[in-house]
Amino acid sequence: MSFADLGLSDELLLAIKDSAYVEPTPIQKKAIPYVLMGRDMLACAQTGTGKTASFVLPMIDILAQSQAKARMPRAIILEPTRELASQVSESFERYGKHHRLLKALLIGGISLTPQEKQIERGADVLIATPGRFLDCYERGLLLLHDVKIFVIDEADRMLDMGFIPDVERIVKRLPKTRQTLLFSATILPEIRRLADAFLNDPKEISVSPPTMTAETVEQFLIGVEEGEKDAAFAQLIKKEGVQSAIIFCNRKKRVDELARLLKKKGFDTAPLHGDMSQPKRMETLDMLRDGNLVFLVASDVAARGLDIPKVSHIFNYDVPVNPEDYIHRIGRTGRAGRPGRALMLVTPEDGEQLGEILRMTGEKIPWMPLEGRVAPEIDSSEQAKSKHRRQRGRKRAGPLHNKAKVAPSKKSKRERPKKSKSKEPAQEQREAAPTKPQGHTKPEEPDWEVPAFLADPPPPVPRARDTRRRKKG
Ligand code: AMP
Repeated sequence: MSFADLGLSDELLLAIKDSAYVEPTPIQKKAIPYVLMGRDMLACAQTGTGKTASFVLPMIDILAQSQAKARMPRAIILEPTRELASQVSESFERYGKHHRLLKALLIGGISLTPQEKQIERGADVLIATPGRFLDCYERGLLLLHDVKIFVIDEADRMLDMGFIPDVERIVKRLPKTRQTLLFSATILPEIRRLADAFLNDPKEISVSPPTMTAETVEQFLIGVEEGEKDAAFAQLIKKEGVQSAIIFCNRKKRVDELARLLKKKGFDTAPLHGDMSQPKRMETLDMLRDGNLVFLVASDVAARGLDIPKVSHIFNYDVPVNPEDYIHRIGRTGRAGRPGRALMLVTPEDGEQLGEILRMTGEKIPWMPLEGRVAPEIDSSEQAKSKHRRQRGRKRAGPLHNKAKVAPSKKSKRERPKKSKSKEPAQEQREAAPTKPQGHTKPEEPDWEVPAFLADPPPPVPRARDTRRRKKG
C-alpha cells in the first residue's frame, strides 16, 4: 500500500515525497484511512513508529476544507512535553508546506505574547502542552466551539506526569461533537477509562513496539570505580571520535557539573535539563540539531521522542534508575538506519540496576576496557539483586536507621542501595506530583513488524509492583 492509496491529497503526497518517505509505516496504513473518515481512534503506538504523521497528515487534509477564525482553533494536539510539542509543530510545518494552514505552538517557559498573536491571527491547529493551553483558555484567549479534531498524544506519559486532570478539564470545554484521537504506548486501565470517557465508538488500532534497541546501535559497558568516573569519561570521549553526542546523567546538578567540567577540558559542551528556561532549552537543542554543538549533557528530559539524526553517540554517564530509560536514552542515536554507539559507565554500586537493564533488553552488552585502567568487579546477577535487598532490609532494621552513619566498609559500599536518586524535583512544575499507574493491560497482539530504520524505544515495561518514584530531569 502506498501513500497515494491512503486517500491523501496531491499536496500532501508532494510534501511526503519531499520528506523522502517511500511507503507508509504500519501505523500510518492503519490510522490514516480512519482519521480521514472522521472516526475516533484509540491507537496503541509509540514514538519511532511514524505515529505523528499518522494523525498530522489526515488532519491537514481535513482542515484544508475551510479556514480558521480569530481565536477559534479547529484542531488541538496535546503533547506532554514542550520538546515533543515543538517537534510535532515542526512536522506540521513540514507536511503542511503546500497548504495554507496556520498553527500556534502553545508551550510554557516562553513569552505568551507571540503565542497570543498567533491565536489572534486565527490558528487552524494548536499544538500545546496542557498547562499552557489552560493558561491561554483561562485568560480568555481561546474560543473552543469550533474545535473539530482533538488529539491526545502520548497519553501514558501524560498520566505518568500527572497531566490527566488537566486533560480532563480541557475535554470538558470542547464541543461534544468532535473527532478525538488518543495515542498511548501502552493501554493502561486508566488510559482505557479515559478512552471510554472521551472517545465515541473508537476504532482501536495497535502496532507493536519497535525492536528493543535499534540494530544499528553498538552498545558497550565500561566498568569504573565511582571516584574515577570523570577521568575515565574524559578518556572515553577522546577515544571515541564523537561527531555529536548526548550524555545522560541522572541528576540535574550532575548535568551542570559535568557540562562545566567538559567545557573546562576543552570539549564543546552544553547542558540541558528541566530547570533551564525554555528558550535556552530550545536554543540548545537547535544547536545540537544544526551541528553547532558536539556534546549535550542532559537529564532524561532529552531521553524520549527526540529525533536528531546527527547524534552519533549516547553516553550514559550514570546508569539510569529505571531500566526502560536505558532504551529511551540509547534510542536517540542510530536514527533512521544510521550507525550509532551507546556507551555506559558502570560502577560496582550500579550492579543491581545494570542487571535489570540486561534482563529487560535480553541483550549481552560487551564490556569495553579503557587503556591504563583496571575495571572493578561488578555483580549484576539475580543473586546480587536479592543480596542487595537483604542488605537493605538489614540496614533498615538495624540500630542506626540513618544510612549516612553506616561506615562504608569496602563491601557495604558496594552493596549500598541508591538513595535519593529518584527524588529529584520534577522537570517541569507540573511533573512534581506524578501519578503512578496502578497496572497495565497488554496491548492487542501486533500483526506486523516495524522496519528497523524506525526503531525507537519500546513502552515502559510493566512491572507488577514498582514503588519507586520516577526521577524527572
Ligand atoms: P514519530 O514516530 O512520529 O516520532 O516518527 C519517527 C520518525 O520516522 C521521524 O523521524 C519521521 O520523520 C519518520 N517517519 C515518519 N513516517 C515515515 C515514513 N513513512 N517513512 C520513513 N520515515 C518516516
